[in-house]
Amino acid sequence: MLNIAIDGPVGAGKSTIADEVAARLHILHLDTGAMYRAVGLAVMDAGLDIQDEAGVTALCAAGRAHVDVRYQDGAQRTLVNGQDVTGRIRTQQAGTAASAVSRYAAVRQMLVRRQQDIAAAQPMLLDGRDICTVVLPNAPVKIYLTASAEARARRRLRQLQEKGESPSFEDILREVNARDHQDMTRAVDPLRQAPDAQVVDSTNMNFEQTVQAILDIVEAAHAE
Ligand code: C5P
Repeated sequence: MLNIAIDGPVGAGKSTIADEVAARLHILHLDTGAMYRAVGLAVMDAGLDIQDEAGVTALCAAGRAHVDVRYQDGAQRTLVNGQDVTGRIRTQQAGTAASAVSRYAAVRQMLVRRQQDIAAAQPMLLDGRDICTVVLPNAPVKIYLTASAEARARRRLRQLQEKGESPSFEDILREVNARDHQDMTRAVDPLRQAPDAQVVDSTNMNFEQTVQAILDIVEAAHAE
């Protein structure tokens, strides 16, 4: 199956870059972070504490955190327990819940299997933290998309300023470093660069240059 796997730390622009690359290649993009966010929401909606691993594990075992994705005009809709939560998963709270529940083996097993099933059905581009290493270890194209923590914090700051918020750069940088630490040091499937992934460092690249760098890697892989 012609699948493209992209991993990388928070704030490297993975989702928007992945959307654009997939659109240009006329394939669907699976944002796996959205699935972890959906489980985080299901846990909160069930009134559970996100730190309660046994409770979250039981919820998954009971099929009460069932995640599905659908595509509408090429855009991903994310559902949990049959409800469309595409809008609701984009809050800071859902991100924090996602980060917490993504540490649990039961959650990862459930979502990795779903992602593998979805990717087996059609050519796709998947982005996340463990796509190259765990979900699609045999993907023909593997990319690790990164940027310095400062560059990622600057981009995040700009996004928040555009929304009318005015946080300090230091606070955002601290948040970026904390999320990196959490994602890279968790016991189950931590974020790491797969040895056979090609690194795209977007610190000094704009959006178009980053998209092009990935398209060049895809093209080179096909030419082989
Ligand atoms: O990418 P996004 O910020 O939406 O991901 C939310 C959280 O889900 C991340 O902080 C990470 O902890 C987790 N995640 C993961 N594995 C993936 C995708 C996301 O652990 N493949």
